[in-house]
Amino acid sequence: MEKKITAQTVEKLMAIKGEARGVTFLYDWEFILETRGQNSLKKIEARMAELGYPIKYSEIKRKKMAFYPIGLDALSTLVIKELFNLDERQLKEMGASKAKFPLFLKIFIKYFVSFDSLVKGVPKMWREHYTVGDLEVVEADNEKELAVLRLKNFSTHKALCIFLTGYFPQVLSVVLGAPVDCRETKCVFDGDDYHEFLLTWGDKQKRELREARTKNITAKMANVKGEARGVVFKTDAVFVLKEKGREGLEKVQSELKSKGHFIDYEQIKTMGFYPLGLRVLSLLAMQKALGFSEKDIEHMGAEAPKASLIVKLFGKFLFSIDKMSSQAPQLWARHYTVGQLEVDPHEKEKYVVVRLRGLDIHPLFCVYLKGYFSTIIRMIINSPIISEETKCSFTGGKKEYHEFLFKW
Ligand SMILES: [Zn+2]
Ligand SMILES: [Zn+2]
Repeated sequence: MEKKITAQTVEKLMAIKGEARGVTFLYDWEFILETRGQNSLKKIEARMAELGYPIKYSEIKRKKMAFYPIGLDALSTLVIKELFNLDERQLKEMGASKAKFPLFLKIFIKYFVSFDSLVKGVPKMWREHYTVGDLEVVEADNEKELAVLRLKNFSTHKALCIFLTGYFPQVLSVVLGAPVDCRETKCVFDGDDYHEFLLTWGDKQKRELREARTKNITAKMANVKGEARGVVFKTDAVFVLKEKGREGLEKVQSELKSKGHFIDYEQIKTMGFYPLGLRVLSLLAMQKALGFSEKDIEHMGAEAPKASLIVKLFGKFLFSIDKMSSQAPQLWARHYTVGQLEVDPHEKEKYVVVRLRGLDIHPLFCVYLKGYFSTIIRMIINSPIISEETKCSFTGGKKEYHEFLFKW
């Protein structure tokens, strides 16, 4: 960004239609007063006067709820940025400080009672500060720990956008009582039609995984719907550690990283839910980084039930094929949020048919599951198994489900 504010910049800013309340820049000045002392305030006033807008701190303080030309708000931010050499981080900090002022809290306390009422109040909150620009909540989900704000019809200066990436999360964090991150994902100064801000909070690991899912649009897998329990990632890691050691696991992680995805197998929470697409990406990364064949992946699936806590918990149901058949749908649902599993037992005829519906991720995952199911069945009947995927949604006439046949 430019160092010195030029007359053209001032002219451009002051030509912008719309108004902003005095408070929008009063807090910036108070932030400077607080962090840099009385003298700094004099410097701001002098520079504003020099640029043709002799605004006095005492005046804004007296008329903080009055409306001023919106360009003044942007100009004041730029003046502060120029005088004190503020970088992006410091601008963000200034944005955050604004939401900490007692007056701000008092004025907007009515919106602060809950997450939902804050979300509803956002457009109005914006309008109380600015006569132009429309702030919308595109998505707000306390479960998913994210919110997306869209700011339309507002184009003053990029410095304001950075400022807002400090301001928005601070407001939200007052309500949530937890730290909130924010980044601008779309911006009119980058050629987009509006500004968009992504706010995230909660568990950092989960958040990064979720972001990996939404970020990389080139990887289809990253957009697969549904989630898998952390335990399935853990068991993958156990297998890789056993076969290829720590070095092998690190290779898999850096292979994923090179594709823009992030898994820290050690940080994953066993009972947490993670994007299902990431599961397949991790299997693919193992093929790539470790040279695993389909057989190896099947073997990995076969080893998994032995390490699974959930299978152990369900162990009491696993003493007969009939029991297993009735419990299998639940066992599946404990691991995955999508797909329905049904088991058709034919114990007398010595075979079991397993059908999986509503899950079309990747054929490699079928291979893994074939290994996984065969181990569970083998654990029950205690005899070697011949396994085969007899129908698959990826091959031969596009069946709408996968079917596995296990014989002994
Ligand atoms: Zn922007
Ligand atoms: Zn299949």
